[in-house]
Amino acid sequence: MNELHTTTITGTDTVLETSVVEEFKGSLRGQLFRQGDNGYDEARQVWNRMIDRKPALIVRCAEVADVINAVNFARTHNLLVAVRGGGHSVAGYAVCEDGLMIDLSPMKGVRVDVATRTVRAEAGLTWAEFDRSTQVFGLATTGGTVSHTGIAGLTLGGGFGWLMGKYGLTCDNLLSVDLVTADGQFRTANATENPELFWAIRGGGGNFGVVTSFEFQLHPVGPTVLGGMILYPITQAREVLHFYRDYAPNTPEDLTTFAALMTQPDGNPVVAILVGWFGPLSEGEQHIKPLRQFGKPLADTVKPISYCQLQSMLDDGAPFGWYRYWKSGYFKELSNEFIDTVIDYAEKKTSPLTAIFLSHLHGALTRVSPEAMAFGLRESQWDFDITAQWTEPTEADQHIAWTRDCWQAVEPFSRGVYVNYLDSDDGMSRVRAAYGANYNRLVAVKRKYDPSNFFRHNKNIPLTE
Ligand SMILES: Cc1cc2nc3c(=O)[nH]c(=O)nc-3n(C[C@H](O)[C@H](O)[C@H](O)COP(=O)(O)OP(=O)(O)OC[C@H]3O[C@@H](n4cnc5c(N)ncnc54)[C@H](O)[C@@H]3O)c2cc1C
Repeated sequence: MNELHTTTITGTDTVLETSVVEEFKGSLRGQLFRQGDNGYDEARQVWNRMIDRKPALIVRCAEVADVINAVNFARTHNLLVAVRGGGHSVAGYAVCEDGLMIDLSPMKGVRVDVATRTVRAEAGLTWAEFDRSTQVFGLATTGGTVSHTGIAGLTLGGGFGWLMGKYGLTCDNLLSVDLVTADGQFRTANATENPELFWAIRGGGGNFGVVTSFEFQLHPVGPTVLGGMILYPITQAREVLHFYRDYAPNTPEDLTTFAALMTQPDGNPVVAILVGWFGPLSEGEQHIKPLRQFGKPLADTVKPISYCQLQSMLDDGAPFGWYRYWKSGYFKELSNEFIDTVIDYAEKKTSPLTAIFLSHLHGALTRVSPEAMAFGLRESQWDFDITAQWTEPTEADQHIAWTRDCWQAVEPFSRGVYVNYLDSDDGMSRVRAAYGANYNRLVAVKRKYDPSNFFRHNKNIPLTE
């Protein structure tokens, strides 16, 4: 075979001579895979098994130079590009059909500056890797609640996590990034260099370039925190959610809680309150007491654990390799009618692996001005997520139908959404809803830094308002 068939940025077929591909390969320190190569199938896999795409080429970048070479190669040959951080998004944009996949996952450098409590972290890190490196120094920043999620996609979309009430979103703690823009230029974006680009990448996702490293503000956290779950029988779901509706918004910023309607490994459906406390331990016990005293809990696992244990507490419920479909949105109030509808759907869910989550957004993340960065929905409100999961590909239709029905029933109460929780069939109106009044400014930054919409395989900010 002396040529490679692939896809252009506009979706038409194109052909690359083998000599051109070989020359590209020779320019890289990292690996280049094409179909049939050892390692190709592993490299194209992402977290959501619903996504089964075969890129023509996969560059596993070892360093910034590889990212620059890959962007220039794709632009020169007009190739469709996908960018992979942790490969964890439910929408699966990290991998494209044909085209070139730029995989940052081998880039895992971390340097903690203890004196300034900052860290420079490369874009291929997962939160487990990031937390391990910063917790050695007793430091952390807000990161995802499932530890094999990538730091890159999560930060660029916003970043919810256990520490958000106390320290804000992950993007609120971002001080600077290095990135490669569509023209192949290596740039720094922060408050003083390329400030408009810095404004846009804090929430605007992968629309503006390939971020190669992030600099974050860290905070003293742990090493011991309070974490775990309090589980109640599903028959008490209504009472528990009514109680939680009053309890969660009034908790201190040291305490983050999530409510989950889920099924235990033994097959029993439950309503759970997940707990993370970051202040003095004895004080935390006082704030958690109302949860323990409410109703008749089935189990209570809340105890002193390490911050890294808390950060991986939910991993077992979200492994790589299952099939997924999500719907999500923000809600200002949880009416009785909303709670009844959610419980009704939870009771007739089609997969025991499926869970419904609710969390109240308050504290530090709501004190940031809506105009400060692209992530602009800063009100005190509820985040609601329907996360359907299953293991057999033949079951997809029924689980997707249940998810859509559940979402359709509650959507009239919704207002806005977190861009990182959008699935691939959530269209432009929902992307707009994720940015509110900041949307048009994002379009303007997109026009300046990516005028050909080179970075389009994502929750895309198009070039027109
Ligand atoms: C089980 C699970 C739990 C989650 N929990 C949380 C949570 O607690 N808090 C939260 O905020 N979110 C959470 N998320 C959502 C998560 O933030 C997004 O899925 C995020 O996109 C994952 O980042 P990633 O790098 O792993 O993803 P990827 O799939 O690799 O990338 C996602 C998007 O970001 C772009 N991108 C990735 N890396 C780069 C880069 N270096 N430069 C430019 N663009 C890039 C990709 O092109 C793609 O469009 C969760 C998701 C899952 C599946």
